[in-house]
Amino acid sequence: MENVLIIGTGCAGYTAAIYTARANLSPLLLSGTQPGGQLTTTTEVENFPGFPEGIMGPELMMKMQSQSEKFGARIEYAQVEAVTKTDAGHFDITLEGGKVIQSKTVIVATGASPRHLGLPNEKSLIGRGLTSCATCDGAFYRNVPVAVIGGGDSAAEEATFLTRFASTVYLIHRRDELRASKIMADRALANPKIKPIWNSTVTEYLTDEKGEVRAAKIQNLVTGEESELELKCVFVAIGHVPNTKFLNGQVTLDENGYILQTKGTQTNIPGLFAAGDVADHVYRQAITAAGQGCAAALEAERYLAH
Ligand SMILES: Cc1cc2nc3c(=O)[nH]c(=O)nc-3n(C[C@H](O)[C@H](O)[C@H](O)COP(=O)(O)OP(=O)(O)OC[C@H]3O[C@@H](n4cnc5c(N)ncnc54)[C@H](O)[C@@H]3O)c2cc1C
Repeated sequence: MENVLIIGTGCAGYTAAIYTARANLSPLLLSGTQPGGQLTTTTEVENFPGFPEGIMGPELMMKMQSQSEKFGARIEYAQVEAVTKTDAGHFDITLEGGKVIQSKTVIVATGASPRHLGLPNEKSLIGRGLTSCATCDGAFYRNVPVAVIGGGDSAAEEATFLTRFASTVYLIHRRDELRASKIMADRALANPKIKPIWNSTVTEYLTDEKGEVRAAKIQNLVTGEESELELKCVFVAIGHVPNTKFLNGQVTLDENGYILQTKGTQTNIPGLFAAGDVADHVYRQAITAAGQGCAAALEAERYLAH
């Protein structure tokens, strides 16, 4: 029987591990298919406190891993398929392959995966001119053209934010009007740096000799016409999918599938805590995920003590 089982090894999971390991709870972490989480898909991280020169995403995650292991955290490379609270009060955690682990508490830190278009070379371009986070990567693209794909609130907000840096922000949307709330849409469309490209989608990302994005092939969905748009970065803002499928309906989620926290990082199931992007569609930052990992660890500790 484990004291604390942490699902996910992103910023939230590793921070929860550092705290629970230092509290002598010997946490077990399950890494899923993306050890290190979303930051392993990016290059330079400039906004994580403590690294004034910036740090590469994968390196930051390896440091978090070794910091948690130094205090006794154990890591298994396993994918969770189900979590069930038993009548006896503990949790049964079923892994892919059928193995079941028992634990007194569970911290769910499984993140949310950014949605992409599903184009062939997409994965290899993430961090090389293709991203899903304007707050994270906007400042790298000063005085150059960029594009935002999407038409909701996030797309409108990200496009407006990017006008602080970019020379032009193309806003590429499948329809002829934004889905965003009126105030956000009006603000974006009134900005002279934002140029909407209506009824259109990206069909291909084109790269330069360094393998970085240099242009996007755009198709007009009404006329079928194709054109090429020179740009340095594409920000995909078509939503995130919170990784909550394995929770099987026991844990209360919000209407978009994010875990609903009842108080702090607590959920409707006593002993099950949620931290990071899996419960946060607002901030979605490494430092906020880490902060929630710390809070979940302290709450799990208190739950076990009582
Ligand atoms: C391209 C990109 C660049 C970014 N740049 C920055 C930046 O510069 N600064 C910044 O602050 N933020 C940045 N972010 C955002 C930041 O990466 C996230 O906010 C942060 O990683 C969230 O951490 P997390 O621990 O909540 O989840 P994640 O990092 O998403 O980690 C989730 C973990 O859960 C595991 N998992 C999922 N499902 C299961 C399962 N069923 N069983 C077991 N394990 C599972 C995964 O394998 C992974 O280990 C960026 C994001 C992206 C995509």
